Formats: sequence, C-alpha cells, structure tokens
Amino acid sequence: MKFADRLATVGPYLFFDLDQKAAAARARGVDVINLGIGDPDLPTPGAIVDAMVEGARDPATHRYPDYQGALRFREAVAHFYQRRFGVALDPRQEVLGLIGSKEGISHLTWAAAGPGDVVLVPEPSYPVYAVQARLAGATVFSLPLTAGQGFLPNLAAVPDPVWRRAKLLWINYPNNPTGAVADRAFLADAVDRCRAHDVLLASDQAYSEIGYDGYRAPSVLEVPGAKEVAVEFFSLSKPYRMTGWRLGAAVGRADAIHALSLVKTNTDSGQFTAIQLAGVRALEPDQDQAIQAAVGVYQRRRDLAVSALRAAGFDAAAPRATFYLWVPTPPGLSARDTAALVLDRTGVVLTPGSAYGESGEGYVRLSLTAPDDRIQEACGRIAAMRLV
Ligand SMILES: *Cc1c(COP(=O)(O)O)cnc(C)c1O
Repeated sequence: MKFADRLATVGPYLFFDLDQKAAAARARGVDVINLGIGDPDLPTPGAIVDAMVEGARDPATHRYPDYQGALRFREAVAHFYQRRFGVALDPRQEVLGLIGSKEGISHLTWAAAGPGDVVLVPEPSYPVYAVQARLAGATVFSLPLTAGQGFLPNLAAVPDPVWRRAKLLWINYPNNPTGAVADRAFLADAVDRCRAHDVLLASDQAYSEIGYDGYRAPSVLEVPGAKEVAVEFFSLSKPYRMTGWRLGAAVGRADAIHALSLVKTNTDSGQFTAIQLAGVRALEPDQDQAIQAAVGVYQRRRDLAVSALRAAGFDAAAPRATFYLWVPTPPGLSARDTAALVLDRTGVVLTPGSAYGESGEGYVRLSLTAPDDRIQEACGRIAAMRLV
C-alpha cells in the first residue's frame, strides 16, 4: 500500500541515521568515537535510581498513571520552578507531566497548528519543531540563526502577514546546536511580539541547567506576564542524566497546557509512575549538587576540546551553556563533507550543522558527552588530519 502523503515530508530521524553510520564503521573494526548525539555518558545519580526501585516495588504504581502526570511530580516541578527561577506555578493548571519533552514538543504542535497555519521555527534547530509542524500540515516559516546575530532570531524581520497566520513560535536557549544563550531582554521582546500577534510562544528549556563559569539561564516565565503567552518545556534528561528514562514537563500558559493535555491524553497514557517518583527525587534541592558535578565535568571537557581544536587551527568558541561545540568547518568543505571525511579517516562521529537547517551549513557540532580521554583522542585524530 501507499502510506500517508504526510510521511513524504519526513526523512529518517537525524540520529537514527548517524547511529547506523557509526555502527557500520564499528562493524568494519573502526574504533568509533561518537561525538554526534548529545546523550550524557555519566550515569543517573544513585538516589534517583533508588527512588525508582522503591516506587516500582509499590503495586500502586503498576496501574495506569494519572493522565496529567502524578500530582506529586507536578508539585515537584512547581517547587523547582519557584526555587530555581522564582516562578510560581499552579501544579494543577500550569504543569503537565510528559514522556520526555520531545513528546510534549510534538503534541503541542498538533494542538496549536494545522493546515493554513504557520509555525515559526528557528534554524538550525532541534529537528522536531519543523518536522512535527509539517506532519501536522502547517507551514514552517524559518528564522535563520547566524553568528552575526548571536544565533538569536530576528523577530522584527518576520513580515506582518506571516505573523497573522502564525500560531506558534519556538525558541530554545541555551541553544542546541549552537550553544548560544539568550538574555532576559530577548525573552521579553519575544513575549511582547507573541502577545501582540496572538501567537503561542514555546520555549524549549532542555539545557537550562547546563551553564558554565557561573552562567544561569533564565526561564521565559520570569518575564512579567509571560504566563499568558508562553509555555515552557522542562526536561529531566540532560540535567539529571536521565535521557533513557523519558521524563519532562510542560509548564506555564494554562490554555496551552490544557490543549496539549487534550491531544496527549487521547494519544498516550503517561509515564510509569515509578519513573515520575524518581523525578520527584531528582527535583529535590540536594540533587542540585549532582547537576553541578556534571556541569563541572562538561566544563573541563569543553576547555580541553576547545584548546585542542584551536591548536589544530579551528575557530572553536567556548559556549557558556549546553554540552555542544559549534565549530566552523575548514574553508572549502561543507558540513556534510567535513563530517563524512572525519568519520571516514578517524572514526569520529560529528553532526553536520546543515542537518539542523540550512543556516547550519559551514558548521559541525561536537558533543561533550564522552569521557575526557575519548574527547582528547578524538581531537588528536582530527588535528592529525590537518584540515585547516
Ligand atoms: C535533548 C533535547 C530535547 C529532548 O529531551 P527529552 O526530554 O529527552 O525528550 C528537547 N529539545 C532539545 C533542544 C534537546 O536537545
């Protein structure tokens, strides 16, 4: 049979493709170092694992979870937002539990936009924003992120007719893949513009806790009045090294939380309650030090990789947040050519920047989620290629 037309708008998921290439090289006997995907190599803190085990022993968790997410988990998210950002949230109306933020990012798109609507998507960006908009039948309007503008979208350049058709604007700071950060003035401007044009502002905060040299990312909900305009996606994946557990939350604007929950509760049945209880444990204040310890490790790796790449002639900048380096490719080599050449000659997997959108051309992304000695080894192999 012929599958639905909408499938033609979607290619294989970026990292699925990269994983297969890496596996093929490994099968050829290559010592592959995967700096492609951003997936923490450090284990989940023990106290969080213990809470999951304890939760799993309680038969009450063996039944269907609460549709909105366990109230205890939603309360824990609200307490975390109060403590970390000074933002007050009503756990019943303004917090929704998610099976990882990717799930919520996808379902919010279906709740917000369809044929005839526009979704404003920065590029390069996490591929899910644009792919889900296309699957939902909406039109993607791309907002290029360039070094000259600090990798912030130029919202003033969006034409009025586009704003009129727009339903949703995505922002993601600290940013994957560029490592850029946004200040409160940018967030306040985005809130103002979305309010003026009656557009839902969606902020992806996957990296809010991964900041270096004392940098602490703000939440868009810190902007006065933002809760009428914005919804934010918080994920336990990156701060607590819980990518495999699938746990996150959507917070903020109540009508958006309600709309998302309508799509979601008609689609899935929520995350295993024992995992949500592990999330409650993670969000307790004593786990802040577990985050800080991991951030210290990434910061050390960042410094090590940046100095090795600079010594090899690359124009590598040290990001203030996220665990990614966004490195300009050697002159005359495209992002895909660079990534393919590096994999072929050294077994190091990098992500071509162009895979995140056309403005990512001319960059490769390196993830710092591998042990120090492997990062050192990878940079050494790349340096030995004398590409620059
Ligand atoms: C990793 C990542 C996510 C997904 O996180 P999950 O909560 O694990 O689904 C979302 N957005 C960005 C930008 C990411 O890099």
